[in-house]
Amino acid sequence: MTAPRPPRTQALDFSRRLRAWYRRSARDLPWRRTRDAYHILVSELMLQQTQVSRVLEYYDRFITRFPDLEALSRARESQVLAQWSGLGYYARARNLHKLARHVVREAPAAYGATLPSTPEALRALPGVGAYTAGAVASFAYEQRAALVDTNVARVLQRALAPRLNVKRARDLTQLWAMAESMLPRTGRAVWVHNQALMELGALVCTARVKHCGKCPVRSLCKTAAMDAGLR
Ligand code: SF4
Repeated sequence: MTAPRPPRTQALDFSRRLRAWYRRSARDLPWRRTRDAYHILVSELMLQQTQVSRVLEYYDRFITRFPDLEALSRARESQVLAQWSGLGYYARARNLHKLARHVVREAPAAYGATLPSTPEALRALPGVGAYTAGAVASFAYEQRAALVDTNVARVLQRALAPRLNVKRARDLTQLWAMAESMLPRTGRAVWVHNQALMELGALVCTARVKHCGKCPVRSLCKTAAMDAGLR
């Protein structure tokens, strides 16, 4: 089944409402105050399957101990794991360390010891999937890059394509295409749009509860309309 993409005017309206809400309601998080690609990569890897409150306990300490890719590449794996200790899913820390060594030591001519800016080039790095590549491209470099994680998939599915199943691979491909078709025009607006989609999934349209009464896109949401018996 192919879900129709929202018309451009509806997509722009959706994004405008979302961004206005984000400016009023977003949490102030340290990785939202930086454009340092490495710091953003660290935060994105830490946030995978981990609560924000938990990551806040680790992020600053990790960045202080390993402030850049160069410092991380010089560390031993045991030192990196010691800083990650307690956060779980240690493959993330191992991959991050591997990535730093690759960029700084193994292929410095290709990368200039910094992270690349496009999703395609980021995806070629060890341990970087489609979501993380989109997040670094958008949040560090303000590229017009889409990102779909569990939260974003749920929001898009509920709001615009309730017949899709976020657990089915081909439906997820459609949600990625939908996310790409909805990006605002400028990289700066895309930065806010992407942060806002994730924030809505974390605070309002959560896995457990739909706070539709507080939702900035309620008037455009198909699930809310179905719940109200309007469609
Ligand atoms: S209106 Fe309700 S279901 Fe729709 S996106 Fe908002 S919180 Fe989710």
